[in-house]
Amino acid sequence: VDPLDVERVRADFPILERDIDGQPLVYLDNAATSQTPERVIDAISEYYRSYNANVHRGIHQLSQESSIAYEDAHDRIAEFIGADGREEIAFTLNTTQAMNTVAYAWGLNELGPGDEVVLTEMEHHASLVTWQQIAKRTGADCKYIPITDDGYLDMEAAAELITDDTQMVSVVHVSNTLGTINPVAELADIAHDHDAYIYVDGAQSVPHKPIDVKAMDCDFFAFSGHKMCGPTGTGAMYGKRHILEEMQPYLYGGEMILKVDFDEASWNELPWKFEAGTQNIAGGIALAEACDYLDDIGLERIQRHEQQLTEYAYDRLTEHEDVEVYGPPGDDRAGLVAFNIAGAHAHDLSSILNDFAVAVRAGDHCTQPLHDVLGASASARASFYLYNTREEVDMLVEAVDEARQLFA
Ligand code: PMP
Repeated sequence: VDPLDVERVRADFPILERDIDGQPLVYLDNAATSQTPERVIDAISEYYRSYNANVHRGIHQLSQESSIAYEDAHDRIAEFIGADGREEIAFTLNTTQAMNTVAYAWGLNELGPGDEVVLTEMEHHASLVTWQQIAKRTGADCKYIPITDDGYLDMEAAAELITDDTQMVSVVHVSNTLGTINPVAELADIAHDHDAYIYVDGAQSVPHKPIDVKAMDCDFFAFSGHKMCGPTGTGAMYGKRHILEEMQPYLYGGEMILKVDFDEASWNELPWKFEAGTQNIAGGIALAEACDYLDDIGLERIQRHEQQLTEYAYDRLTEHEDVEVYGPPGDDRAGLVAFNIAGAHAHDLSSILNDFAVAVRAGDHCTQPLHDVLGASASARASFYLYNTREEVDMLVEAVDEARQLFA
């Protein structure tokens, strides 16, 4: 694979031209939200300029055009993650709503006292809090696979925690705090050996590497559009077709029904039974455009580019003893580094970085229980994407050095 031409890529993103108080923007908050290429912005604007109309129900020309584009977008997203087709892809607002759909539509109906949901210590609140609540309502229990000192899942513990009482294994594919890439296919095998399902949170994997849900053999999979060059308010829930067919809907209303009378209602075919009410039509179509954009550049190329940046950032940040980087070694992690410097709160650190126009996130990154395990209340996190450069990593490191001297 040829290396990624980062200058060419940067030209696709209008926002990268702006400055922050006269300094060029160094955007390293991609794990929170990625920037949007012109093509995707154009797809949104083209929709509203030329064929804005509600889908499914219209016979008029505009509705037919929007319906075809919206339905095709489902096929495009299915293809992007290796699903069988639109029947297996329900559009959602984001990963969180996809997770809640699985939890409410499947969990609330299927779980009961004595049942267990096995999660990991590195789950995002989107999964952790949701299963916690569903467990409380159904009488089921949540168990957590611990992490090792270097931020991997303890797979021996996993093999013991997943038992015949387990109904669901819920695991983050790539940790948004540690950068750990979890062995989801292996966990799927263990789950299936015990007749349990596995839900994979793909929020931090889909944007950055090729995904094949069939090879992974997960039962459910979720991700967000806004982290993969798509619009906010877009995302998807993948489910194996036979499971989705059996599953109750989560939201009720227009579009998701087949036949209604005063006593009963029956459900529309997949995936529409999971898309109640008017959807983010423009967003879904633009998300398909984002998939085209990423595929045109090539996810393997993007992945390799990020790996190089990450390894470099990791090596430079860990040169100093007063910088603590969490998670696996630099050559075995996804494109992000969460860290602290001695004597400073992560918020103060990131505020200093902001003075250098370096945008990073500070906080618990929606992984408070994991931060408890790490013994830190918060951390600063730099996260990379296809348009970031080695020079930007240098800017980060220089700004961190300034902060280190200030707080020393
Ligand atoms: N899971 C992970 C691993 C994430 O990083 C995020 C976003 N921070 C989410 C879930 C939730 O994504 P969203 O806010 O788009 O629902």
